[in-house]
Amino acid sequence: MSNSSLASYTRLSPNCSSRGGQKIRKITPHHMAGNLSVETCGSVFAPTSRQASSNYGIGSDGRIALYVDESKRAWTSSNAANDKQAVTIEVANDEIGGNWHVSDKAFESLINLCVDICQRNGMTGLKWTGDAGGTLTNHDMFVATNCCGPYLKSRMPDLCNEVNKRLGNGYAPTAPQAPATSNGSEKTGTGFGGRYVCQADGCRVRCAPSLSGQIVASYNKGQSVTIDDWYVIADGYVWGRYTGASSGQKRYIAIGKPTGGPDAGDLWLKEGSSVASTPSPAKKTAEQVANEIVQGIGGWGNYPERKTKLEAAGYSYSEVQALVNKKLGAGSSSAPAQSVSTIAVGSKVRVTNPVDENGVHLSVSGTYDVIQVSGDRIVIGRGGVVTAAVNRSNLALA
Ligand SMILES: [Zn+2]
Repeated sequence: MSNSSLASYTRLSPNCSSRGGQKIRKITPHHMAGNLSVETCGSVFAPTSRQASSNYGIGSDGRIALYVDESKRAWTSSNAANDKQAVTIEVANDEIGGNWHVSDKAFESLINLCVDICQRNGMTGLKWTGDAGGTLTNHDMFVATNCCGPYLKSRMPDLCNEVNKRLGNGYAPTAPQAPATSNGSEKTGTGFGGRYVCQADGCRVRCAPSLSGQIVASYNKGQSVTIDDWYVIADGYVWGRYTGASSGQKRYIAIGKPTGGPDAGDLWLKEGSSVASTPSPAKKTAEQVANEIVQGIGGWGNYPERKTKLEAAGYSYSEVQALVNKKLGAGSSSAPAQSVSTIAVGSKVRVTNPVDENGVHLSVSGTYDVIQVSGDRIVIGRGGVVTAAVNRSNLALA
């Protein structure tokens, strides 16, 4: 086994082990989550205390470094089975955060290095399947990580195609497949189209309406997309279709199981649709409902109507009423204090729908302080540091 002659810098890391007799048959690009030079990355992997390494690193200037001989298994992808068969490559980011962009020079070097690895190791080409079954793999296939970043992730099909093209081996490029319609026929003009809201994190977008369709992106809970008035049933799912804004290509999402209508288990729900088949669970806490009653909102009415409505909505009348009595002050007939349930500067709140004012998915948990209020735009944060601006409708008092 040899190493790449494209590497212009070498700093061998002690953090490696045997390939256990496995042949090299995979390549796993990673991102550094930083703009490290190949020298700096080498010094990061140098101490044994780091317990991490990669076979190669690529800087934003396009230079390539060797950190672990190809004959050894580097400790990169949190997965022994993968790394025993893979050459792993850390690529620098020239954008910190955001899409974790990679420079054109670094990407070109990545292509060249992949071609070289394939040629020296008898690999006829790379196969991108979007999962660990391919020979081009990613860290996030083995562990929950942002690696290799949205930008590099989106370039995996390009990388695969370009490497295969340069190898000139007639290896089938992983071009978007034609829609597979064998499971069912395409339906149009049914009113299926419209704006759909994602109900779970990591909902995949594919190049074809099939579970084997290449994965090109993913959506998180709360994000939305407008799909065509078109669907097809395949691989046990109803698939919707839209045209990617940047790619111009048809994209497909699994909406849910073909149950004949919106269902609580659906991955995407049409905006404004109600999930009739499943009783809606109590979405507010007893405390929040008590606050509504105290404020005279929510249409809860008075006893006995209140008891009927609360129980129909899944609440305990006695529990909620006890809270109402407490808030009103036992025996008091004075007007309730409005401040009990009003979000104001200094309130403690929690985010009930993790989307910011621009519709961008937020990673939030626990309680936040209200730092600023302007109409329904509420700025939240902790310790005076702003976390996000969130619409009032997506917040609740903690
Ligand atoms: Zn990684």
